[in-house]
Amino acid sequence: MRKPLMRIPYTDILAPPAVTPASARSLPGALAALKHFFAAPPPHHLPTSTVVLTGAGLSVASGLADYRGPNGTYRVNKTYRPIYHYEFLGSHEARKRYWARSFLGWSSLHKASPNAGHYAIRDLGELGLIRTVITQNVDSFHPEAHPQIPTLELHGYLRATVCTSCRREFPRDEFQEQLARLNPRWADLLREALASGALDTEDPAERRYKGLKSNPDGDVDLPEAPYTTFRYPACPRCLADPPRKPDGHRHAVRVDSQGAWTLPSTAGILKPAVVMFGESIASNVKTAAEQAIDSAGRLLVIGTSLATYSAWRLAKRAKDRGMPIAIVNMGGVRGEEQFFADLDPQQAGEQGVRVELSTDQLLTELVSELRKGAAAASDRVSVARASRGNLNVFNDMLS
Ligand SMILES: [Zn+2]
Repeated sequence: MRKPLMRIPYTDILAPPAVTPASARSLPGALAALKHFFAAPPPHHLPTSTVVLTGAGLSVASGLADYRGPNGTYRVNKTYRPIYHYEFLGSHEARKRYWARSFLGWSSLHKASPNAGHYAIRDLGELGLIRTVITQNVDSFHPEAHPQIPTLELHGYLRATVCTSCRREFPRDEFQEQLARLNPRWADLLREALASGALDTEDPAERRYKGLKSNPDGDVDLPEAPYTTFRYPACPRCLADPPRKPDGHRHAVRVDSQGAWTLPSTAGILKPAVVMFGESIASNVKTAAEQAIDSAGRLLVIGTSLATYSAWRLAKRAKDRGMPIAIVNMGGVRGEEQFFADLDPQQAGEQGVRVELSTDQLLTELVSELRKGAAAASDRVSVARASRGNLNVFNDMLS
């Protein structure tokens, strides 16, 4: 039996990247290599479309922190440890702590928006180069920036909560209002933190200076705050109609006088609609991601160290299919040597590219270079049409 895919943090130190081809160290060299990557027909009669796989590095320019520093270690908050799924499910106290921190962190996440890198991916889609995006990010920036290109959110999304009993989803915005209503003193604290500017920065030193500690889940650390007082609502559907246990009896779903979930409830627990560490990825999402790899001819990896196994194995799957892979990431990538070990040393980017440059500038410039190329090609086609008066333009396009 195959083991289920679990999301587990990978904390090994990653080796620094070997830039490929060597000319891709400079911005012009990297652009040239990526142009070769997109222009060359993929080998083995693979389709000509490209699938993109992204991670936290792409959202850094939106003001969201990355989990990993250049050497692959957690860098934002040395003491930060993500909550595990079993802790969230098993402990009322752990959920109070999670939702209190999430309550404070939500406004900065909510204020953040897609950056130039996300819009460059939209533009690459408009140029016909990208068909699907697979992201590990839970910030919903991809669907916001390019609703036309389908996005598979491998690790879920923070824009909704999901009931762990009935699986119904609810908007996170409304949940935030309910949390504010159930926790008026915390709502005051949030107003003060927002007024002090502590939540306007992702710089941990600056946040600490202003009295807050934060980590990349949009989560704020307040060691002195009494998490035990925090209250969170129950799933309204399970409250109205408690689900049945396997033995046919109904679960208990209890709330206090204001609607906050209380013990001894055994169901109706709301959770962020993200795949927590130690939680399995939904099988339909996993299958869709594999199909996205299998129906493309190239893989472009952006802003991720492929530290989660679920993402790494998609890149491995692409490699096993013979797909050229381009990786744009600051810092090392898990097992990247094996993605580039068999490339011809003379290749210019058509077999694979490894670049270590910031994504927002590189991708934006790549789009404008490719647009220039597309415009020139379309001019040549027009001239050919005018001079020969026929539609046999394919020779021009292939020359
Ligand atoms: Zn429910």
